[in-house]
Amino acid sequence: MSLAPQARRTLRSAAALAVAFSLLLPVGTSASPVMPPRQGAATPGAGTHANAVTWVVDDKAKTITATMRLQLVSACDAAAVERATLQGPAAVARCNVTPEMVSAIKANIENAWNQNYKVLCYRLIVKVDVTVSEEKIGAKAAGAKATAGRLTIAIDQSGGLASSFVASDDQPPGATWRSTRPQDAAVPVNNHPRWPNTWKYPGNWENTYAHEAGHVLGLDDTYENFTDAAGRAHTRAIDGAPNDLMARPATDQIDLRTIKTMVQRAGIDPYSLKCDWTADRTVPGGAWTGTKCEGITGKWVLTTQIKVGGTDLHQIWTATIDGQTGVGTFVYDDEAITKVQGTTAWGWSHAEGSATVELQPDDSVKMHLIETQHDGWGRAVAAGQTFTTPRADQPLVNWDFPWETTECAQ
Ligand SMILES: [Zn+2]
Repeated sequence: MSLAPQARRTLRSAAALAVAFSLLLPVGTSASPVMPPRQGAATPGAGTHANAVTWVVDDKAKTITATMRLQLVSACDAAAVERATLQGPAAVARCNVTPEMVSAIKANIENAWNQNYKVLCYRLIVKVDVTVSEEKIGAKAAGAKATAGRLTIAIDQSGGLASSFVASDDQPPGATWRSTRPQDAAVPVNNHPRWPNTWKYPGNWENTYAHEAGHVLGLDDTYENFTDAAGRAHTRAIDGAPNDLMARPATDQIDLRTIKTMVQRAGIDPYSLKCDWTADRTVPGGAWTGTKCEGITGKWVLTTQIKVGGTDLHQIWTATIDGQTGVGTFVYDDEAITKVQGTTAWGWSHAEGSATVELQPDDSVKMHLIETQHDGWGRAVAAGQTFTTPRADQPLVNWDFPWETTECAQ
């Protein structure tokens, strides 16, 4: 069990207390439900999509594996080879893609992307499969002759000013660097008429290839250029974007927001992942607990054992979430027995309504329940008097419960 910050704990405790008192008086909160995102359909664009990445989700191993297939080819065309021949062996060598270069590029990508990054409980694995074409036909021709299922990249060793880039389809209107919709993913193409995929060797930055691989995996750049008061040009992360590999290829650090954006762009809906969840909160007078295994779909049961004054409350909240969007219904029942200073009270209440289970940026889940119907009654025997309080048609109330990731026994 991990402790939430004190302020949040206090808030949750207050919410749980309100739940406890719902037997006797209506208490509401004003939180409004937020619908989780839905997965969109991919929109085919113009150009020759490289289809260079295969994504595999393994629910048993709890891994998301992206396998990227690249074909490297020298940027030299026949004329460049001829010039190199006149210049000598060193120049000729710059028209070859060697096994050492392949290893260096592959290692740069795999080292940066395989740092135990996780989407909920799933570990990201990026594998790079590289082949080399010996043809000396230049970047454009190589792109047009690309092998199906591979992104063809011209390796430029000329030492010129050119930078490394991956050509992509135009993204749909409204797509931004932070879009998580699959149709907003960068889609690398092989035969871009103006910008054949070109990577400089060696790269301009320590993690040039890892950064370019981010584009192959569907991500956008997150930097912008600007000029300071003295007229000097600089680059910085776009306002709001993490200052990570996609903003600054000098670093190999990748923000988890970037990882999540990428995985969602690949069409993997976090709501479909089979992670386990636990709710475990101590509140004044007791606790509420629950465990939910195998993902968001299905039954979430939360049990509250709490003592308020002399009242033992036993409550069961059952939310049934259908589909992969985190939306469903809930029912709630409680039962209380009070014995305080000769007073005996007994009562029950029942509620039902809608439930949403919403993933939070911190990888917790917020269960949000909205009552649409509430029923019950209480009865007390005090000093020889008996009175009964019927309950029905209570005002609508909202409840929030946080759940954290856990691991259910296999
Ligand atoms: Zn870039």
